[in-house]
Amino acid sequence: MTIATEQTTSSIRQDGQRNFVHPADVKGRFTSLRALLFVVLIAIYVALPFIKIGGHPAMFLDLQHRSFYLFGSTFNAQDFWLVFFLVTGLAYVLFVLTSMWGRVWCGYACPQTVFLEGVYRRIERWVEGPRQTRLRRNAAPVNFDKVWRKLIKHLLFIAITLVLAHVFLSYFVSLPSMIKMVQGSPAEHPTAFAWVMAFSAVFYFNFSWFREQFCVIMCPYGRMQSVLTDSDTMVIGYDEKRGEPRGKVSDPNNGDCINCNRCVVVCPTGIDIRNGLQIDCIGCAACIDACDEIMLKIGRPKGLVRYDSLNGLHGEAKKFFRPRLWFYIAMGLIGLTVATIAFRSRSDYEANLLRMQGAPYQLQDGKVRNSLELHLVNKREKTAVFSIQGVAKQGQEFIIPATTVELESLKSRRIPVFVLVPRGKASQIHKVQLRIRAEGSETEQIVEVPFVSPKN
Ligand code: SF4
Ligand code: SF4
Repeated sequence: MTIATEQTTSSIRQDGQRNFVHPADVKGRFTSLRALLFVVLIAIYVALPFIKIGGHPAMFLDLQHRSFYLFGSTFNAQDFWLVFFLVTGLAYVLFVLTSMWGRVWCGYACPQTVFLEGVYRRIERWVEGPRQTRLRRNAAPVNFDKVWRKLIKHLLFIAITLVLAHVFLSYFVSLPSMIKMVQGSPAEHPTAFAWVMAFSAVFYFNFSWFREQFCVIMCPYGRMQSVLTDSDTMVIGYDEKRGEPRGKVSDPNNGDCINCNRCVVVCPTGIDIRNGLQIDCIGCAACIDACDEIMLKIGRPKGLVRYDSLNGLHGEAKKFFRPRLWFYIAMGLIGLTVATIAFRSRSDYEANLLRMQGAPYQLQDGKVRNSLELHLVNKREKTAVFSIQGVAKQGQEFIIPATTVELESLKSRRIPVFVLVPRGKASQIHKVQLRIRAEGSETEQIVEVPFVSPKN
């Protein structure tokens, strides 16, 4: 297989000008699979803020109140450390996938591809027609037909962009608030309005104009391909041994490639897969469907362009499981185990015993007094009642104004706690302990701070 040597990407000319890509329509098994997947993924994206689990949206990142609801679990800002496990876990899943199947994420599930191919290009084809018609109209002088189609297309783009931006916003503000905001004036909620306008502007710019340039020149994941893949990774490739020399099907000396260019015109990044594995390839498999269609027409077996490893395309032995894959799987499993332990060890409430500001102790009626404060946070998704009890040892006397506290979901409260010890015994007391129990829970938490007393 030839390895591409061009220094520029196919959608950018040598002089730096954009080579706008107008991919042709294609039909086939991978295109149908992707279309189905796009519908499912877009439905999930739109539905998540609407679906309720445990009384809250399936995904709601309430940044204003630092409360996060994910599929029935409730988190607050103190749980942010769990994000580390989430991100590393997802990264290793992506590493394993990439090592096995190359840019399968880019071609099938990345939001850039899903919305571009599943929404915006569909609208474009519907309004402006197939590739040839679009190219002809674009090259023609300005006329009524050209203007109204462009106008309608961009109005539809703007409308769909505004819908998507509002859905995106509803992940961060509650759905009822979002609906109220939409019905009110922008002046009543300028920050949310500014965010929605900013999201809309970015989405519109990206999906109506920038398009494949994001994948080709901006996406960091695309840049990591060369280190994550090897000669045994399944990629989309052209079988050079079978296809070359290219030429007419009637010439028995030619290979199977009839040089029809169909695989090139369907490519959303405008590359020629016959030039070898290229960084611009997003693994969409459109060229496989396009070439299979041609092979069917000329009576040759499918698979001239296919999913295969570089070793497979060279006719060499293929290996699926290899050291790098085992390494990624092992790291992923370790990460998953640690994440599960971390997640399970997470308490559904937080209790911290702190010292009040001011002097560390006071002397009162022959007793030493420590003034403390219990900080209680309810991390359950519903209201909970907590009982607070001092662990009295060696004459410790506790004064707790509220021994039973009711807290709404993700709400917190500071409860003053005073501990008194007769002065004569104070030097024997080293710590103060409180026992906290949440209603309906078998387990209890003990929180403690050192007891401070005069040296003599
Ligand atoms: S679609 Fe197939 S036959 Fe046509 S140019 Fe591409 S590889 Fe060759
Ligand atoms: S080369 Fe094929 S798989 Fe790669 S982006 Fe182009 S059409 Fe998609």
